[in-house]
Amino acid sequence: MELQDFLHDLNRQIRDQGDWGKVADYIPELGRVAPDQFGIAVALADGKVLEAGQARQGFSIQSISKVFALACVLGRIGEQLWSRVGREPSGDRFDSILLLEQEKGRPRNPFINAGALVVTDELLTGRSPQQALSEVVGFLRQASGDDAIHIDKAVARSEAQTGHRNAALAHYLRSFGNLKNPPDHVIGTYFHQCAIEMDCVQLALAGRVIAGLDCAPALLSPVKQRRINALMMTCGQYDGSGNFAFRVGMPAKSGVGGGLLVIAPGRASIAIWSPGLDGWGNSLAGTLAAERLAEFTGWSVFG
Ligand code: GLN
Repeated sequence: MELQDFLHDLNRQIRDQGDWGKVADYIPELGRVAPDQFGIAVALADGKVLEAGQARQGFSIQSISKVFALACVLGRIGEQLWSRVGREPSGDRFDSILLLEQEKGRPRNPFINAGALVVTDELLTGRSPQQALSEVVGFLRQASGDDAIHIDKAVARSEAQTGHRNAALAHYLRSFGNLKNPPDHVIGTYFHQCAIEMDCVQLALAGRVIAGLDCAPALLSPVKQRRINALMMTCGQYDGSGNFAFRVGMPAKSGVGGGLLVIAPGRASIAIWSPGLDGWGNSLAGTLAAERLAEFTGWSVFG
């Protein structure tokens, strides 16, 4: 069976299975999205993009933005970042504050919220929130070749109204001296960064730079690609990362909007969207789809 036929088949299989999970309602605007939706796009090394289901439906990329904010910061300050944030899985929820006290304000990795706030703080060094956001959105536009990518202000506002945990994390980081900018600036920028809206086709195209595809614009060095992929594999789905590696075997990053960016290094960049989440906050049907795609293609990095 050809990959395109498989994707249509997968779309049917996912719609036939009854379990969609629960949408994230702690951000009220995301709580209004219907869970029973599914889309997938696969960008291949030769420049082709295959799609099935609601691959052109925009969604909130949320934590998937952390990958691209990290790419921007690594491009700017490189290795220095690692004195402020670690590279180990946390084994905790994405919004946990637990380890931050024990480890004196140095977050475990750049994909949990505390670590992403430090990355956004770096992004704000010498720049206004507007400029910092333009840098991330600009990176995504260049990586995907699509200037229509934008921030959904209603989602950013909605998170700002209820984002007390992120505010707590930012203030806590600041108390350890690991936040240079005022906490309100950092969380405001972070909420807007998380509220970037993209569809699966745009996200799969942007992910080509992480996958190092031949057709990708040259925005990331091979070393940075390798490191970002390592972090996605070990920390990309928070405390569900081990299970994801076991089932799918590819580096990936999830977001509470139900998006999933999965990387088959050198082969493909895959974007999947289904807004219902599992208990870890990762797309439930999206993970199942990634697992079936990995079985069909044999793209697991573990052979
Ligand atoms: N904006 C969300 C938050 O900070 C992102 C979390 C996620 O996608 N896992 O809670």
